[in-house]
Amino acid sequence: MTRSPARPDRAPLTPLAPLTVTAPRALATEAVHAGREDLAAQGLHAAPLDLSTTYPSADSRAEAARLDAFAATGAEFEGPPVYGRLGNPTVARFESALARLEGTESAVAFASGMAALTACLLARHAEGLRHVVAVRPLYGCSDHLLTGGLLGTDVTWTDPAGIAAAIRPDTGLVMVESPANPTLAETDLAAVAHACGSVPLLADNTFATPVLQRPAEAGARLILHSATKYLGGHGDVLGGVVACDEEFARRLRQVRFATGGVLHPLAGYLLLRGLATLPVRVRAASATAAELARRLAAHPAVARVHYPRLGGAMVAFEVCGDPHQVTAGVRLITPAVSLGSVDTLLQHPASISHRIVDAADRATGGISEKLLRMSVGLEDVEDLWRDLDAALSGRPSPAYREPAAAGAAAPPAGP
Ligand SMILES: *Cc1c(COP(=O)(O)O)cnc(C)c1O
Repeated sequence: MTRSPARPDRAPLTPLAPLTVTAPRALATEAVHAGREDLAAQGLHAAPLDLSTTYPSADSRAEAARLDAFAATGAEFEGPPVYGRLGNPTVARFESALARLEGTESAVAFASGMAALTACLLARHAEGLRHVVAVRPLYGCSDHLLTGGLLGTDVTWTDPAGIAAAIRPDTGLVMVESPANPTLAETDLAAVAHACGSVPLLADNTFATPVLQRPAEAGARLILHSATKYLGGHGDVLGGVVACDEEFARRLRQVRFATGGVLHPLAGYLLLRGLATLPVRVRAASATAAELARRLAAHPAVARVHYPRLGGAMVAFEVCGDPHQVTAGVRLITPAVSLGSVDTLLQHPASISHRIVDAADRATGGISEKLLRMSVGLEDVEDLWRDLDAALSGRPSPAYREPAAAGAAAPPAGP
């Protein structure tokens, strides 16, 4: 078949040169512009969404050389990525933006936070380093992945002061969360990084986000995010990402290629969009959370409030009475697991987010049966307080009518 060249749709544009960033930019600016520097030169405003699973490979010899180079180094593909599991241009935009926000050379995205953690562990296990030193509490499924033996990990649990003594010749990672899920316990990341010596410190920064804390500056080599939470920010996308140096990123890309835990391009698109508003969302929700923490501390039905010195939009509190009654009593707040969305979520860690952790291990991590974890959203603080206060006091929320019982007369229609 011969092909005649297609008519151009329009006259060629005089291309603008892609921007190269030379001066450091503030976080709020990076959030809006990082990963998008080449768009104007392409005549685009929004980032394109590339859903391709495969890419034309007419020059097979050149493709073989590119695949050999990836197998040998794990370096990011220049040009079309051959196949969707090797890379995706939309996901790459999210990765480079997140790396800029965290202040790392690179970032590698995955299908979920758990897929991202799995890749970190497998990258170390492949080098014979199966031992992990970790500090409780961690997110329930992270605890389970380390403890349950699914990947053949051997874990030593310790407190921050015991890290240096717990490190062995086969230790591949030290893992901490700060503020931790769900107790919001804080760890001095710089002190922990120092105690790690040459062993990479993996810091889960899901709760703080780079808006409040940049663990790379404290010496963490791997920064993990459940992107499902604040980075996406709207409760409609699952994803995970590891921000790190390019050397570790190359190993993570090789693991991702071989194990397949890739981020879907639509998720990459939504995560890049979410990053643009991350600083504004985190600061606004944090201000509301700080006020709710202050009011909760004075509430007669609350025994103890946990709110990080760092700030943030997460609040944990222990109730005097039955925690299940509080999650059943909220009306504006959604009783649901997960966090970091525009709306406020409340859940009981011992029943849900940390259910998979043994009761004794939950207790070691300070996760009491009375503890509730709240992710504060962007609603008005007074509306949230009315709902929370009513649920804590066992009163019906004044702003909501209970649904009519089946068979009861319908409420009058009208304004
Ligand atoms: C939710 C969460 C994870 C796991 O992320 P997924 O995207 O649900 O796989 C890991 N760490 C923390 C702190 C989390 O809150």
